[in-house]
Amino acid sequence: MNRDSMLAQLDENKTWDILIIGGGATGLGAAVDAASRGFSTLLIEADDFAKGTSSRSTKLIHGGVRYLEQGNLKLVREALKERGRLLKNAPSVTHKLGFIIPTYSFGQKLFYGTGLKIYDMLAQKLSFGKIKFLSNKTIQNISPAINQEKLKGGIVYYDGQFDDARLAINLAHTAARHGAVLLNYCEAQSLLKKKTKPTDKYPKVYGIVAHDYLSDKTFEIRSKTVINATGVFADDIIQMDNKDAEDIITPSQGIHLVVDKKFFPGDHAFVIPKTDDKRVLFAVPWHNKVILGTTDTEMDSITDEPVPLQEEINYILQHANRYLNTNITINDVTSMFAGLRPLVKTKGVTNTSMLSRDHVIIVSLSDLITITGGKWTTYRKMAEDAVNNAIFIAKFKFIHPVTKTLQIQSSAFDAIDYNEPIEKIYSKENIKQFIEEEMATCVEDILARRTRLLFLDAKLAMKTAPYIAATIAEILKKDDDWIRNEIENFILLAKNYLP
Ligand SMILES: Cc1cc2nc3c(=O)[nH]c(=O)nc-3n(C[C@H](O)[C@H](O)[C@H](O)COP(=O)(O)OP(=O)(O)OC[C@H]3O[C@@H](n4cnc5c(N)ncnc54)[C@H](O)[C@@H]3O)c2cc1C
Repeated sequence: MNRDSMLAQLDENKTWDILIIGGGATGLGAAVDAASRGFSTLLIEADDFAKGTSSRSTKLIHGGVRYLEQGNLKLVREALKERGRLLKNAPSVTHKLGFIIPTYSFGQKLFYGTGLKIYDMLAQKLSFGKIKFLSNKTIQNISPAINQEKLKGGIVYYDGQFDDARLAINLAHTAARHGAVLLNYCEAQSLLKKKTKPTDKYPKVYGIVAHDYLSDKTFEIRSKTVINATGVFADDIIQMDNKDAEDIITPSQGIHLVVDKKFFPGDHAFVIPKTDDKRVLFAVPWHNKVILGTTDTEMDSITDEPVPLQEEINYILQHANRYLNTNITINDVTSMFAGLRPLVKTKGVTNTSMLSRDHVIIVSLSDLITITGGKWTTYRKMAEDAVNNAIFIAKFKFIHPVTKTLQIQSSAFDAIDYNEPIEKIYSKENIKQFIEEEMATCVEDILARRTRLLFLDAKLAMKTAPYIAATIAEILKKDDDWIRNEIENFILLAKNYLP
């Protein structure tokens, strides 16, 4: 996957079958689906692949126990199916994980036990394993950080875990392997529209104007269909189509605090089933650290670098310290990151935690297809639905999707061990591969998404940045000004990941 050869394929004389705007989970999934069905496919991403919400998730592949409690059986059943498929199709970046729910009374044991049994049954053949009731002693052995005060045992159930940004890169590789062209740092700036047939009542979208930031070139790109997969930015594209269209997205922020494994040793994750605001909070081992999260805060503005709010940080520390034998302070946080959920507005619902996690497809009068909402876990199904819509709109001959069993490309970088020396992880050879095969273009791409150091240990990432910048400069023949600029930009960004 080489950027120069991708860019060379942006041919203004060509008409693509399917053009996708947005290179997060949804867009990359759509590119895999479309290309593997044989459609000529182009995806453009304004920033880096997975720069948006798709690198900032809680890293769970799950049906969502919380949605079961809300009674959304359809969503849970669909997500559990997708969970099973993803583990089979992308084993290099996913694995099963045991989650411990603490119980403080017999009633709770019965309530959660019944719910989790139903959860497992809904997975049918794709079950990850039966739930087990645990005594306090077993909990002490497998997860010694769980506070035993008033504890009356617990329950372990199974879900999945993954590395979101690595899966995104692997999806890009998979789409490219099937002939798709994908370009990061290339932004859709406007839509091309006209009445294509005398019978058309409204002008139809027949492509986009896109700007490639690295070559500083602007292209008119034609396509028979255009899919808007821009997550929380979906309204920007919808309003390029119709400036009077009402917003459909309510952005809801969720933050995570990352701490050392010593605060939560063991291989299991921990679930606080009911926080003060009746949500679920997780402590999840991830690489060589533990992620604590998340929150659900409605935001007024949308940005590609959301920053945790002080009250969100306090909320997570308070809950974690209440349920764990720890006193984690702000000084123990090695990194923190925030993401924006692209929730779709529902009339009458004012609390974002009650807004649906289902995905939504909207086809405008100009035939622009917008797909948003949903979860990482269900990206494959979302992609299939979006491409089915594109087939219908463009009247393509129907070709069956193949992604239910399609193997997703793996990479040696999926197995990076963050306990290894930094010089080994970031050898010149590895950096060359990130650039030449994974389309990394700057320090941030390498430290935030090709590897996850920024999300694990922001201070260490800042310390490593000058060396990465110098090595990229050597490979790409950049000058000292470029190096200085890169380091400054990265340090500025990384400060947002430190409390
Ligand atoms: C805090 C949090 C925790 C979560 N945890 C989980 C979890 O554990 N498990 C799970 O299954 N799901 C989880 N989710 C949900 C999941 O992360 C999202 O549903 C998913 O990542 C959304 O992907 P997307 O592709 O729709 O959006 P995004 O990842 O935001 O991608 C949209 C992309 O479009 C690009 N773009 C915008 N405008 C343009 C333009 N004009 N031209 C070109 N490109 C453009 C953006 O740069 C961006 O990269 C979580 C979400 C949050 C916020």
